[in-house]
Formats: sequence, structure tokens, C-alpha cells
Amino acid sequence: KTQNSFCYYSNKDNGSCYKNLPSIELENDLYMAIENNELAMFYQPQVDCENETIVGFEALMRWFHPKFGLVSPSVFIAIAEKNGLINELGRWGLQQTCKDALYFEEKCAEPMKFSFNISAKQIHQSNFIDETLSIVNSFDLKENSIELEITESSVMHNLNAVSYFLMELRKSNISIAIDDFGSGFSSLSYLQNLFVDTLKLDRSFISNADLNKKKRTIFTAIQSMAHSLNVDLVIEGVENFSQKQYLKDLGLDSIIQGYYYSKPMSLEDLEKSLFLKYSL
Ligand code: C2E
Ligand code: CA
Ligand code: CA
Ligand code: CA
Repeated sequence: KTQNSFCYYSNKDNGSCYKNLPSIELENDLYMAIENNELAMFYQPQVDCENETIVGFEALMRWFHPKFGLVSPSVFIAIAEKNGLINELGRWGLQQTCKDALYFEEKCAEPMKFSFNISAKQIHQSNFIDETLSIVNSFDLKENSIELEITESSVMHNLNAVSYFLMELRKSNISIAIDDFGSGFSSLSYLQNLFVDTLKLDRSFISNADLNKKKRTIFTAIQSMAHSLNVDLVIEGVENFSQKQYLKDLGLDSIIQGYYYSKPMSLEDLEKSLFLKYSL
């Protein structure tokens, strides 16, 4: 990869990088992406490991570029964070997620949580809290159906801003998840003082395994910590049956998110596959 180019998803496998893109062109085009209707929210199911039912979805943004095809959010979110567009993308994405959550709520009897990613850059925007609350409150959603994810490293680097932000959101009925938990320099002490509902264990824990005895100790320790802090635990990046079975055999009662159950899907595909598989 050269410095001024980025890679994007192939449309076929929805995941791997196979070409380099000119960043200047991407940046220019991103300004028009919302207006041109090129962005979409995809949803990846989160499954309760004990009874294998869907309990919620993570909302993940997609950019269908007219020339380059599907551009990865790990590329365009970084651009948006640099040039400030992240605020606009964030507003658009949260709004779309709430809209889709409401649509889902009307179709499906079970309450589902919809989880949306917040960038640390957004938190520093002065009216971020008001704006977030006014978007979520403009939809007549059930309590706690919207969750905001913030990465552990953003929390650690912005502890004061994040604490304030979480305290304010606590007054409303939005839940909070710590994303990529355990991935960076993590300090367990901050958890005692923050209002957090969910921990999302970073993908590296399950994927780098070599699921040996030490690893088992880590999973069970994290689970018992989650229990005593009274937070939900989501294990990210479960890609195959044996990983899922490993977690079940450990007796975990956590939530699993990963390709094993499903890749992120459009609302339309999600609806189709859910009605087929789970007859909701
Ligand atoms: P993330 O928040 O950690 O999201 C999880 C990423 O892991 C997603 O990548 C998802 O498709 C991928 N994933 C899920 N299951 C598996 C699995 O079993 N194996 C593997 N290898 N990967 C899996 P995606 O959609 O490409 O998003 C990448 C990152 O871009 C996200 O990481 C998040 O940091 C950011 N992002 C995505 N959408 C948004 C958004 O709307 N706003 C903001 N601020 N950031 C977003
Ligand atoms: Ca996330
Ligand atoms: Ca994550
Ligand atoms: Ca539980």
C-alpha cells in the first residue's frame, strides 16, 4: 500500500482488500456521499450463546462508491474523522439506524437492541449530546433499543469527556457499549466509575486462539467480571462452529457476534433471512 491510497472491499466477498484507491479523490467524493445516497447502514446479528436467539444488531456503515464500489468503513471513517465530516456521517447513520430499528420493532415481537458506533471525534463536538438525544428521541422507540459503542482506546484517551457524555446519556434511555475491549492499553479501574451497559470483547481474543488452557482462564475471568459489574458481554469475531462451541463448552452465557452467525447485511437482506431462518 502506498501512502496516498486506500483499499476497498471487493463486492464479491464483502471483506477483502484488493485495490488501492486515491485518497484525495475519496475525500472529495465523501463530501457528496450522503446527498448522493451512496451510504447505507448494514446490520450484523448478535446472538445469545445460551439459546441461540438474536438479541440485537450492530449497525455498520457502508459506502457504495459509484466508481470504486464498496469502500470499507475502516477507510472512509478515518478520512471523515480527519476532515470533520464524521459529525455529519454520524448524524446520518444514527438517524438511519433509529429509523430501521423502528421499522424492525413494528415487525418483530422480540425487543432488539441496535448498536451504533460513535467516533471519539464526535464526542468533542460541543452540541454532541443534545444532538444525539434529539435524534434518538425523535423516534418513538422502546426503552434501551439504541446502544452507542465507543472504543476502549477512545475512552482511555478522553476519560473526562467520555465520563460526562455517559453521565448525560444515562439520563435518557440510551445504552453504552465499550468496543474492542481488551485490545489496547486497558485499565479496568475506569470501569468502576463509568456508566456502561455492555463490554464487547475484542476480536483478537477468539481469533488468535490457539484456544488453550490459559485462554480459557481469560474468557471465564472476563465473564465473571462482567457478571459482577452487571454488564452484558459480547464476544466479537466468532467465525466458525468450533469457536462457538468452545465458548459454549466453557459455559459462557455471553452474546456472540461474528461471521459464524452472519456477516453484516442490508436491512432488506436481514429481513429476508430472519423470516426464513427464525420465523420472527
Ligand atoms: P468495529 O466497530 O469493531 O466493527 C466490527 C467489524 O468487524 C466490522 O467491520 C465487522 O464487519 C467485522 N466483523 C464482524 N464479524 C467478524 C468476524 O467474524 N470476523 C472478522 N474478521 N470480522 C468480523 P466493518 O463493518 O468493516 O467496520 C470496520 C470498523 O469501521 C468498525 O469496527 C468501526 O470501528 C468502523 N465503523 C463502521 N461503521 C461505523 C459507523 O457507522 N460509525 C463509526 N464511527 N465507525 C464505524
Ligand atoms: Ca463496534
Ligand atoms: Ca469491535
Ligand atoms: Ca446475560
